[in-house]
Amino acid sequence: MKLDDYYQSGRTGLSFELFPPKTPAGEAALIKHVGALMEFHPDVITCTYGAGGSTQDKTLEVVRQVKQKFGVPVASHLTCVGSTKQQLRDYLDAASQQRVDYIVALRGDPPHGEKEFRPMPDGLSHANELVALIRSEYPHFGLAVGGYPEMHQEAPSPEIDLENLKRKVDAGADIVITQLFYNNEDFFSFRDRCDKIGLAVPLIPGILPATSYSQIQRLASLCGTNLPPRFVQALVDCEDDAERQFKIGVDYAIAQVNELVQQQVAGLHFYVLNKSQATSAVLAALERSETKR
Ligand code: FAD
Repeated sequence: MKLDDYYQSGRTGLSFELFPPKTPAGEAALIKHVGALMEFHPDVITCTYGAGGSTQDKTLEVVRQVKQKFGVPVASHLTCVGSTKQQLRDYLDAASQQRVDYIVALRGDPPHGEKEFRPMPDGLSHANELVALIRSEYPHFGLAVGGYPEMHQEAPSPEIDLENLKRKVDAGADIVITQLFYNNEDFFSFRDRCDKIGLAVPLIPGILPATSYSQIQRLASLCGTNLPPRFVQALVDCEDDAERQFKIGVDYAIAQVNELVQQQVAGLHFYVLNKSQATSAVLAALERSETKR
């Protein structure tokens, strides 16, 4: 099935993003949590590549296991960090052999300790180049790219960031998955601006149900995401009560997702962080509400 087929009007596509666990215990727990999430019939499960220092070869192992155990289409993320074009091709060959269905094509962040992204000699500088390489040499892969409702941190302006996003779509991306955000208005305004420049692919909001103040603070600062002050204050007020923080984060995500679905987003991409509880609670509430996906 083509990747954009999951996001046709009248249905809300659903994807979950995992990361490669660092320990055998983490691997076993991951399979258990993915099993719990299968209740919600995801269209695609994706796994990050090299994010936060994770090892790259584990990505293919995670998607292989998920596809084998649950029979769900899978996507490997792939970044240009530290790779020549030939190394990217080697990875794409391995992904093809393993019957990975889709690729989330990214530039990646500079490695720890470096301020600027520097391409490898004979490497790629931007994600649009990776999209172009995959489209011309691996046309069987469906392709997603990243989008930034609040603008990518390195971009000189939202307009230029949007032009760069369009470059990725023009190079052949099928869908755009966004960075996490907590103000739906940021997403709606991004969607309007994408419409205005004729960016005609599904835009999938990235949702991270926050489960604690420390978690959300760390992730938001990594991605440059604005946090609504009242939401932050509510979490701070019960910083010693993990259960209460979880409930506040999940309730916030339920309200956020309900509104997104009411406003007919093409799909939902959950950053599940290898756990099922928060995402399951949000999706169960959505199923009970009038705004079913
Ligand atoms: P690009 O699209 O290349 O953009 C990077 C910057 O360069 C932007 O400021 C853009 O405006 C500018 N730019 C783009 N093209 C051009 C051009 N042709 N000329 C000049 N300027 C240009 N990171 C990981 O390490 N592993 C992952 O698995 C991972 N998964 C992610 C999944 C999603 C859905 C998202 C949204 C992000 C993910 N990231 C991941 C983070 C991502 O790698 C970083 O945000 C990175 O800094 C930018 O990647 P990009 O693909 O958006 O880059």
